[in-house]
Amino acid sequence: METPFFCAVGTAGSVKGVTPSELRELGADVLLANTYHLFLRPGHEVVRHLGGLHRFMAWDGPLITDSGGFQVFSLGWGLEHGVGKQMGMFPGEAEARKTRGQAARLVRVDDDGATFTSHIDGSRQRLTPELSIGIQEALGADIILAFDEPTSPLHDAAYTATAMLRTHRWARRCLEARTRDDQALYGIVQGGALQELRRASATAIGAMAFEGVAIGGSLGKSKHDMFDVIDWTTPHIPEAWPRHLLGIGEPEDLLACVEHGIDQFDCVAPTRLGRHGVVYTADGKVSLTRPELRDSSAPIEPDCGCYTCSTGFSRGYLRHLFAANELLGYTLTSLHNLFFMHRLMQRIRAAVREDRLSALRDEFLARYGVAYATDGKTLQAAGGQ
Ligand SMILES: [Zn+2]
Repeated sequence: METPFFCAVGTAGSVKGVTPSELRELGADVLLANTYHLFLRPGHEVVRHLGGLHRFMAWDGPLITDSGGFQVFSLGWGLEHGVGKQMGMFPGEAEARKTRGQAARLVRVDDDGATFTSHIDGSRQRLTPELSIGIQEALGADIILAFDEPTSPLHDAAYTATAMLRTHRWARRCLEARTRDDQALYGIVQGGALQELRRASATAIGAMAFEGVAIGGSLGKSKHDMFDVIDWTTPHIPEAWPRHLLGIGEPEDLLACVEHGIDQFDCVAPTRLGRHGVVYTADGKVSLTRPELRDSSAPIEPDCGCYTCSTGFSRGYLRHLFAANELLGYTLTSLHNLFFMHRLMQRIRAAVREDRLSALRDEFLARYGVAYATDGKTLQAAGGQ
């Protein structure tokens, strides 16, 4: 795999609405699936029985599974803090008000592991570092992640430190629990948006026998905090380790985070936005559900090489598919958005090779309509439309 790269997310072993051959065609080379979801349904033993995750989902390219930690705990924060089903990466007050009043105590963590309630059937379930590794070995992805306890921006410093130290102890147990030698195991750095903790966590994880690192947990309350977290972390990680920033991001994030040393990304945004009729274009995001697009014969982007644009599907047709709740609409917009992200990553890789990444960033962002200030961390509106 050439870095930096972007992983399309196949949460439950499927990139929603897109077939493996379509993924290949649009340039996807690595997919990420979620341990939490596959553990609960259909169960990792079923996947093992059916030949492992590659065969199960008919994807013969590289696969990554996360450890389940983020889903287990973010579901818990949701109820603890009165946030929705799963909290966004940068939760705002509005999000925090959404579902107050639901039962708390969804996740109980102890030093051995975490007990949680399945979002599918309400049953009580338990994950430990050893079980997470066992599940990920049964699934058989090429890159697997250590089981961790992420924290949210709403946790205080004392709890964030407690969870970080527990994450370090679990990291050692994950290393001891592995029995396969054909999977790369990444450690996860925690420590919230606190400089001392991130440095301590990167130093501790960086000293263990992992093959790479993922930056997880709270990335603070803004993009500026996110870049601080990256900058506090990367100097303490072995130079040879690939660095994965979990759950990020949007086009503007990829460009800037690569400059800050990130090699791998995963995000559900291209397919999730696509299912809501929102598409990426060089001039920013466009909602295809707007009534004024009814008569538009233009493709999403005339110079885009994706299946949707090169076939000539018009904005007016796509708007119609969304108005009529036609499944093809979700597929066509997902194909375009995933192509857009992978095309952008190709351009980023070329720019890295030719040492002109900041020029690409400025050129892309000016037209996309956002810009990072000269500190490289603060996002602002650009001159573009
Ligand atoms: Zn397109």
